[in-house]
Amino acid sequence: MAKIKLQREKCIGCGSCQVICPKYFELVDDGKSHIKDSVKDEKTNIEELEVVKIECAEAAAEACPVQCIEIIKT
Ligand code: SF4
Repeated sequence: MAKIKLQREKCIGCGSCQVICPKYFELVDDGKSHIKDSVKDEKTNIEELEVVKIECAEAAAEACPVQCIEIIKT
């Protein structure tokens, strides 16, 4: 199991995560990335999703130019 975490405030909407890992990431109306099916904390604008397999999310985190994607292995 693992948790994918996205700090939406820091996202600059470059689209890399969506290209590398469309399974988990998509750009949405405000021009920033969103983790599909995630839970968002409205106060912090941080999204989290529990996953069984990290798959492409790790590559997306590594490619993010502002390092706003975090993978927490549990
Ligand atoms: S790679 Fe990072 S900065 Fe680019 S859209 Fe994804 S989360 Fe945002």
